[in-house]
Amino acid sequence: MTTTAACIEATSAGADLTKGTVTRRDLRADDCLLEIRWSGICHSDIHTVNGDWPHENFPLSPGHEIIGTVLETGADVTKFAVGDIVGIGCMVDSCGECASCADGEENYCLEGLTGTYNGVDRHDGSITQGGYSTHIVCRDDFLIRIPELPGGIDGDTMAAMTPLLCAGITTYSPLKHWGVGPGSRVAVVGMGGLGHVAVKIAVALGAEVTVFSHGLSKKEDGLKFGASSYVATGGDAADTFHKDHADEFDLILNTVSAVLPIHRYISMLAVDGTLVMLGLPPEGMNIRTGQLAGRRRSVAGSNIGGIAETQEMIDFCAEHGITADIELVSADNVNEAYRRVLGSQVRYRAVIDARTI
Ligand SMILES: [Zn+2]
Ligand SMILES: [Zn+2]
Repeated sequence: MTTTAACIEATSAGADLTKGTVTRRDLRADDCLLEIRWSGICHSDIHTVNGDWPHENFPLSPGHEIIGTVLETGADVTKFAVGDIVGIGCMVDSCGECASCADGEENYCLEGLTGTYNGVDRHDGSITQGGYSTHIVCRDDFLIRIPELPGGIDGDTMAAMTPLLCAGITTYSPLKHWGVGPGSRVAVVGMGGLGHVAVKIAVALGAEVTVFSHGLSKKEDGLKFGASSYVATGGDAADTFHKDHADEFDLILNTVSAVLPIHRYISMLAVDGTLVMLGLPPEGMNIRTGQLAGRRRSVAGSNIGGIAETQEMIDFCAEHGITADIELVSADNVNEAYRRVLGSQVRYRAVIDARTI
């Protein structure tokens, strides 16, 4: 039997979000039906509903940071039971057969991962609908088990865990891939939804962390999250901020989705250092190859993480008491929350209380 779920959706590109309904499919043998409790607002949601990444799939309900409770399980599901608290991140399926999937890196599926929203279901060809909704159906292999947390499913800690399903894994995966640990010198560029989580996770891994942010308005927070220094890159400092940090960092995570003076950031990489681009500005950037060759530096990209690594990240964050700093939003205030995210006013991630949808 299909489930009619209430949702918040955009009916056309750039339109305000409104309340609607979405039909969730009848359970396949490996599916679970969830009652959604919390749903994070990621900047990607805003790009998608605004049509910044053009597509025709309206109406669309976004959301790929989801925590809820299993209500029903398909015939073959053994990993999860009714009542389990689970999460869904940015993908709900992949081919399962390519080299990346075989390596547990479904996020790099060579056939293309199936996005949690605005993706194409691999079985029925329908457009996937995300987490701004009361219910969702997802394959068991793409569910993340959420550890017990103080307050349970309704608790503040659970709500604050939700953004980790995207912001957490997006930053955890490159930190692990490039071997960050005690003694690593890490820089985080930008301190928004992604950046503030990156600081917390890098600190928990033992790194010495420096934040590079346009201004100093979030400095106190950055230091509270564990950064050892905080550097302004805008205003009077725009041409000089990098000079005191030449050859300093083993890894720089760039969380900013805008074109940056990339050569200044590359100049701050140590020998063998890597600049990882996590934001996706529409325009390209020019790299001075001599800057790379002179220190065997790399410029790289990274896209979320596999399901096993997402589980590892959630367990790591639960163990180290890492959550996002969030503002709770009711369904009626999502449009206002979008405007505040775009104005960099949200500290640092907005999470929708799905019971208000
Ligand atoms: Zn996201
Ligand atoms: Zn694959």
